[in-house]
Amino acid sequence: MKELKLTDSVTEVKGIGEKTEKALNKLSVFTVSDLIRHYPRGYDAYEPPVPITSVKEGEKAAIEASIITSPLVKQVRNLKIITIRVKDISGSLNLSWFNMPFLKSRLMSGYHYIFRGKAIRKNGVLVIEQPEIYTREEYQRKMNILQPVYPLTDGITNNLLTKAIKTALEEVGIIEDYLPKSIQKEYKLMRGKDALLELHFPKDKELLDKARRRLIFDEFFQFTLALSYLKESKKGWKNNFSIEDNEGCKEYEDSLPYKLTGAQKRAWEEIGKDMQSGHTMNRLIQGDVGSGKTVLAALSLLLTALNGYQGCLMVPTEVLAKQHFETINDAFLAYGIKTALLTGSMTAASKREVYKKVKEGEVQIIIGTHALIQEKVEYLKLALVVTDEQHRFGVRQREMLSDKGEHPHVLVMSATPIPRTLAIILYGDLDISLVDELPAGRLPIKNCVVDTGYRNTAYHFIGKQIEEGRQAYVICPMVEESEVIEAENVIEYTEKLKEALPFAIVEYLHGKMKPQEKNEIMERFSKGEIQVLVSTTVVEVGVNVPNATVMMIENAERFGLAQLHQLRGRVGRGGHQSYCILVCGREGKDIRKRLEIMNQSNDGFYIAGEDLKLRGPGDMFGIRQSGDMEFKLGDIYQDAKVLMEANEAAGKLSKEELEAIFSKSPELKEKIAEFKGGTL
Ligand code: ADP
Ligand code: MG
Repeated sequence: MKELKLTDSVTEVKGIGEKTEKALNKLSVFTVSDLIRHYPRGYDAYEPPVPITSVKEGEKAAIEASIITSPLVKQVRNLKIITIRVKDISGSLNLSWFNMPFLKSRLMSGYHYIFRGKAIRKNGVLVIEQPEIYTREEYQRKMNILQPVYPLTDGITNNLLTKAIKTALEEVGIIEDYLPKSIQKEYKLMRGKDALLELHFPKDKELLDKARRRLIFDEFFQFTLALSYLKESKKGWKNNFSIEDNEGCKEYEDSLPYKLTGAQKRAWEEIGKDMQSGHTMNRLIQGDVGSGKTVLAALSLLLTALNGYQGCLMVPTEVLAKQHFETINDAFLAYGIKTALLTGSMTAASKREVYKKVKEGEVQIIIGTHALIQEKVEYLKLALVVTDEQHRFGVRQREMLSDKGEHPHVLVMSATPIPRTLAIILYGDLDISLVDELPAGRLPIKNCVVDTGYRNTAYHFIGKQIEEGRQAYVICPMVEESEVIEAENVIEYTEKLKEALPFAIVEYLHGKMKPQEKNEIMERFSKGEIQVLVSTTVVEVGVNVPNATVMMIENAERFGLAQLHQLRGRVGRGGHQSYCILVCGREGKDIRKRLEIMNQSNDGFYIAGEDLKLRGPGDMFGIRQSGDMEFKLGDIYQDAKVLMEANEAAGKLSKEELEAIFSKSPELKEKIAEFKGGTL
C-alpha cells in the first residue's frame, strides 16, 4: 500500500473524488494535512434510550418507540415537513423532519426504531426535530463511544468525514513529532500523532483531554513563537515620521465637555511618548466598554495631522465609522484638518474621489470600514493607523494596512477583557495601555433578569424613561419570523411595541437593511428623533448614544456573556441612571445561572472570569469566545494555563533546538516567516 503524504491532495484519500474535494475545499480542506486537522467541533455520546416521559426540553435523548400514525407531510413556505407520532410503554410524542421526503417510506406505521435528537417545545408540546433513526443493532454499536461531530458544509456528511479522516490517519503512517523530546517530557505532553488519533477517535474522555491539551499546546507554542519573530522583525523598523508635541492637542483636550480621567491621561502620555520617540509605536489600548477610548484615538489622529501627516481610523461597522466621523470631522475643521469617510456602501464615484484626495494629501484623516484596507487606497504619507474594536478584525488586517505606509505608528483599541498576564502573551508584539477607570459621575447600570411575563412592566418603565426624555434599545436575536427557530424578531416586535407605546417613535434596525437605511435610522436615533430602537446585534459594537438609558434584551439566553456585556455597554454612557433588562425566553437552571452573572457585575473582567468558572475546565461544549484570538482548539480563558506553559517553553528554546524544529517541520518555518499576526 502506498503511504499517504501530508502534502498530498485530499483526492489521494480513498473515497474522495473530485466532487467531494470541491466541497471539502469550502471547509478549507485541501491537503491530507488539512483533513486530519479538521477537528471535531464536539462529540456525541450515544446514551441508552430513555422512556418517552423522561424526555426533557432542550436536551438530546434517544427513545425506543413504535410509529403509531402514517407520516403526515405538510408544506410550510419552502419547507416540507414530515411528522409522525411514536409511542412506548410510558407515553407518546411527535417527531418531525424538514425537507427529507425520502424518509416517508421508512417511517411506516407499526415500524419500530430508536430515534435520537433534541426535544424542543412547539406550540406548548414537546417534539423532537430532525431525529436520527437507528435499528436496535445499529444503535448498540454506537453506544458508549464518543463520536466526533465535525463542522460540515453542503455535500459533506459527518459520516463521510469520519471515514475519510480515519483512512487518512491510518495511511499517513508515522508523523514525526517536531516538538523536542525534552519539552514533551517536561510538560507531560502526548505524542503528536497519538494526540491526533485520540482527538478524532477518543478511546475515552481522559485520553481525549490529554490529546486536546497536546494539540492546544501546539497552537499556542507555534503562535507565541511566531509572535516573537514578528516582534523581533519590527525592532529593526526605522521610523520616518518625526512627530512633535503640538499645542493643538492641549487645546482640543480643553475644548472637551469633560476632563480626561486619570487612566485616559496616562494612556495619552504613553501614546505621545511612543510617537515622539523615533521608534514605531505598536500599542494596544485596552479598556472596558464606555471607558472612553475614542477620545484617545481622536487625540492621536489630531497630533498626527498637526504634524503634517495622514492618519486613519478603521472600524468594523459602517454605523460606527459614521459615528466616529461625526465626532471628529467638525472638531478637526477648526484646525484646518480635513477628514474623509470611506465605507463600502458609498458609490464608486464618491469612493474614487476620496481615493484621489487621500493620494494627493488633500485629506489628512480617513475614517472607514474594511474598504480602507482595499488595495485601491494609496496614502500620501500615512503615519498612524488606529483600529477600533480590534476584536472584530483580527490582527492580520491591521498589519496589512500597516504595510501600506512605511511602518506607520499603530494603535489598537479593544474592549475584550483579557487579564494582563494573558494579554502580554497574546499581544506580545504590542505595548499595552490600560484604561481601567470609568469617567467620573457614571452611575452603575442597574440590571435585572426576568421572564417574558415581565414585559408589560418593562414597557411601562421604558415609557416613563421616554417621558423623562431618555431613549431605549430593545434587542431581538432574529430579523424576521422563522419556522425553525423560536425567538423574537425585530420586525414583528416593532409592531408589538408600537402598540404598547403608542406615543413613542419606535423603529427597527437590522443587518439585512440597506446601508443607507441603516445610517439614517442610526442618525435619527443619535439625534433623539427615535425613542425606541428595536435592533439585532448590529448595535453591539461601539455605538455611542449617551442619552439612551434602557437596554432590554429579548431571548437573552441566546447570547454569549461577552456579547451581552457588549450590548449592555451601549447604555450607561452618560450621566443618567441606566438599566439593563435581560428577558429570558426559556427556563432552565443553567440559563438562569449564566444570566445571573450579568446581574452581579458590570465589569467585563469579572464576567469573563465567572463565565469561565461556570463552563468549568474541560467543558469542551462551552461557547468559545469569539474574537481575534480564535484558535482552532485553544480557548484563551479556559486554556490559560497551557498558554502560559507553551509561551514559557517557546521562550526557553535554544538556537539549536529551534533549528531542529524547523528542519523537522519546514511548514512551520514557512508559516512563521509569513506570519503577520492573527492566528497561524
Ligand atoms: P468606549 O471606550 O466604549 O469606546 P467612548 O469613547 O465611546 O467609549 O466613550 C463613551 C462616552 O463617554 C462618550 O459619550 C464620551 O464622550 C464620554 N467620555 C469619554 N471620556 C470621558 C470623560 N473623561 N468624562 C466624561 N465622559 C467621557
Ligand atoms: Mg468605542
